[in-house]
Amino acid sequence: MSDTILEIRHLSKSFGANAVLRDIDFSVNKGDVICVIGASGSGKSTLLRCINMLETPSGGEILFHGKDITKERVNVPAYRAKVGMVFQSFNLFANMTALQNCMIGMTKVQKKDRKTAEKTARYYLDKVGMSPYIHAKPRQLSGGQKQRVAIARALAMEPEVLLFDEPTSALDPQMVGEVLSVMRNLAQEGLTMIIVTHEMAFARDVSSRVVFMHNGVICEEGPPQELFMNPKKQETKEFLARFLNG
Ligand code: ADP
Ligand code: MG
Repeated sequence: MSDTILEIRHLSKSFGANAVLRDIDFSVNKGDVICVIGASGSGKSTLLRCINMLETPSGGEILFHGKDITKERVNVPAYRAKVGMVFQSFNLFANMTALQNCMIGMTKVQKKDRKTAEKTARYYLDKVGMSPYIHAKPRQLSGGQKQRVAIARALAMEPEVLLFDEPTSALDPQMVGEVLSVMRNLAQEGLTMIIVTHEMAFARDVSSRVVFMHNGVICEEGPPQELFMNPKKQETKEFLARFLNG
């Protein structure tokens, strides 16, 4: 038995004449922490959105445990519980408390009873340090706190893979650390994750593999030490140099 969860083969996506993803190939094994880096517009969000079924690919395959989600009939909410996503802008329900935000997927999609759902929601809110705020509405929370609720909500579905699209990019600088620290703990616990991020120190420390995207293709990938310390492609060198020089 292989422990491959996702396999992406020859994935492409165009918006009209704009080929945003071209021939993307990579696989995600259980326990992988893959950081995706690259300039704005290189296709990182589109890649995650294809994997989360928020975009329909133009070509290629996305196999989830061997089943091509682009071709076979898929129960989308159930799939998104297994392959969860955390967004830059949190996407919490404004009229619900932190606790309710974390429960809704379990009661509506997974058909769990309220008591079980509440217990699970409290467990994951505690895990991200949000126990004191379970009855707060999003507008009463800081950006960092909202993002931690969004992470708890995704975790409560007990996903096999969690996708993060620049989870700290919308945060004030003093709140970036609390969110990265939660993600660091998840990585240590062995959660499988794909993380689009501009936090290079974080990517270097937590990832098992780094993928550098450039103009819609995977330009280079490898272990963080190699990609950051000894990049092979000119594009990677230039991207990293621009980052280091601010
Ligand atoms: P990144 O996340 O790396 O910044 P994106 O995946 O958001 O890049 O975008 C890659 C390219 O795809 C950009 O040129 C963007 O304008 C284009 N794009 C993304 N989403 C859409 C869309 N829904 N319709 C048209 N063009 C899009
Ligand atoms: Mg993006």
